Amino acid sequence: MKYRLSQPEISNEEVEAVTNVLRSEFFGMGKEVQAFENELSDFFGLQTLCVSTGTAAVQLALTGAGIGPGDEVLVPSLTYVATYQAISASGAKPVSCDVDPETLQISVADAENRLSSDTKAIIPVYFAGATNCLDQVEKFGTANKLRVIADAAHAFGSYHNQNLVGSFGDINCFSFDGIKNITSGEGGCIVTNDPAIIDRIRDARLLGVIGDSKNRYLNQRSWDFDVKAQGWRYHMSDIFASIGRVQLKNIDSKSLVRKNLFDQYVKNLKNNSRIKLFNWKTEEGMVPHIAVVQVPGLKNRNALREELEAFGIPTGVHYKPNHLLSFYRSNYSLPVTEKIYPEIITLPLHTKLTTYDVDDICEIFSTIVEKNLIDG
Ligand SMILES: *Cc1c(COP(=O)(O)O)cnc(C)c1O
Repeated sequence: MKYRLSQPEISNEEVEAVTNVLRSEFFGMGKEVQAFENELSDFFGLQTLCVSTGTAAVQLALTGAGIGPGDEVLVPSLTYVATYQAISASGAKPVSCDVDPETLQISVADAENRLSSDTKAIIPVYFAGATNCLDQVEKFGTANKLRVIADAAHAFGSYHNQNLVGSFGDINCFSFDGIKNITSGEGGCIVTNDPAIIDRIRDARLLGVIGDSKNRYLNQRSWDFDVKAQGWRYHMSDIFASIGRVQLKNIDSKSLVRKNLFDQYVKNLKNNSRIKLFNWKTEEGMVPHIAVVQVPGLKNRNALREELEAFGIPTGVHYKPNHLLSFYRSNYSLPVTEKIYPEIITLPLHTKLTTYDVDDICEIFSTIVEKNLIDG
């Protein structure tokens, strides 16, 4: 392949940081995790807890908010299955909602129709790093006494009306997996202004061992302890935190590269009547995580993807709607999601691409789309 769809950018600094942890011969949750957590808390201006994955972050946020068996959680169908697995792992039931066709964000109007007396939370997904739904979701959450637990896995470093995503709001969950805006190899974090949630999650991520976080930061373990609730082995390792710390330092330059590349896609594709772009605006602070476009009337996405691959251009599909999966199948349809799903395609976007690469990809993409629409 000439390009990659997504990829992390790792410099000698991350390699040195990991090497230092390996040489220390202490791989658990210790001083690196503590430092990463402190740096993230400073970044957001709110208390932050690191966990093993973004999926674990969403699960623990729900559990920490007291949401579990018998409760319903409103969530867009168009998200990675991780969001759904996190909800069902908490014991709650994901209730699939439709999306807005212009932004691919949860449709609050549709969510409203799916409210029941068991609804306890809404999980907006900041798809591609965009936050178009944020204000409406907050209003809806307040009006209906719901927790708002954002899946902000795509939105690390993104701004909403000049405010950093994660620096305000109820609970925000981020992912640091290998292809996210910043990576720690694997990892995630929970940011919230609710100290009660932090207290519960701090123990829950370490098998529920009360007070274990403090000991781990001192490179110690708890031997004589108590456990009062279900916990999970969801803490972060110093190896991973050491990568994340270097990545966090470089967030501004990484965000700028993503914005410039995305703007180049928009510049190249906006006048192509065959291609529909979503209503996402980098000039309003969005940091694009993925370059998703729609080809209205597309007849055969697989053929399109194969032809692009022949030119060395890998593509993705974000995402297979969850309400169509066997485990999460709904007994109702979601017309916008189902209409859009066969027509969306994700083009390469990561910080190792150049604007010339984007020009090359757009030229080939435009030509092949044209042919696909005509020949099927
Ligand atoms: C990556 C991702 C997650 C989960 O994060 P992991 O760290 O991979 O567990 C959740 N939701 C969305 C939308 C994601 O893209």
